[in-house]
Amino acid sequence: MKLHLDTAEVYIPDQQALPQALSRTTHLCICAHQDDNEIMAAQPILECFQQPDKWFTGVVVTDGRGSARNGLYEHYSDEEMRLVRFKEQRKAAVVGEFAAQIMLDIPSKIIKDGSNKYPVSDMIEILRATQPEIVYTHNLADKHPTHVAVTLRVIEALRQLEPQKRPAKLIGCEVWRGLDWMVDSDKVTMDLSTHENLQFALLGVFDSQIVGGKRYDLASMGRRRANATYFESHDVDAATSLSYAMDMTPLMKDAELNPAEFVQAFILRFGKDVQERIDQMK
Ligand SMILES: [Zn+2]
Repeated sequence: MKLHLDTAEVYIPDQQALPQALSRTTHLCICAHQDDNEIMAAQPILECFQQPDKWFTGVVVTDGRGSARNGLYEHYSDEEMRLVRFKEQRKAAVVGEFAAQIMLDIPSKIIKDGSNKYPVSDMIEILRATQPEIVYTHNLADKHPTHVAVTLRVIEALRQLEPQKRPAKLIGCEVWRGLDWMVDSDKVTMDLSTHENLQFALLGVFDSQIVGGKRYDLASMGRRRANATYFESHDVDAATSLSYAMDMTPLMKDAELNPAEFVQAFILRFGKDVQERIDQMK
């Protein structure tokens, strides 16, 4: 596997040889930043944990240089911050027993520039080397510009991949903006009722992001609990913790499908649902 930047890294927690480490992957998550895997794709991480036939590989696209810093990290340079964030991501890969953790080390401004094609080429290389059953990334209604950019590049990479090498599913997960607004029939639900201890551990290693007062650990765990409790208003909770996601598989299969129009259809169904509930009560 040839990645564009010499500073890109492939970390393999159990020191398996590179081709074997990658080819065992069944669940692949491609996200923008260090910690996004653990916030949005905890369910596949836990599904693969301690399973001989299921392996999670995480891909972090950006370099972490522009990260907000506070407290202990306040005076860190961009390069020191990058090293801290790489180290934290490796810790999460150990805790979650990932098959591999790939860090592409791409500056945010490059990934946001659609005319720059090397991020897509790197993603194609990874998809060929891993050939996962399911790919997870951000969803198209996320409000973080870098997340949206990563999603568009993932869709582009999957479309360029030979159809027989594509995964069965492409799933868009929630970070910056929850997906509670989607109508229930559109929601992909990911049950996180077990291994609360590991979920806390996976989020807790990202000290440089949490120490400044942004409690992504508590916020993510709280969102999962709220999703489960507010999912069904009449039934007893079947799950105590849920993440939501958007099935974006049609965008992978149909190169003519416009991503903006695709996500607008989810928003229109939400709007119709609101309208109908009001109309019923007139
Ligand atoms: Zn992020």
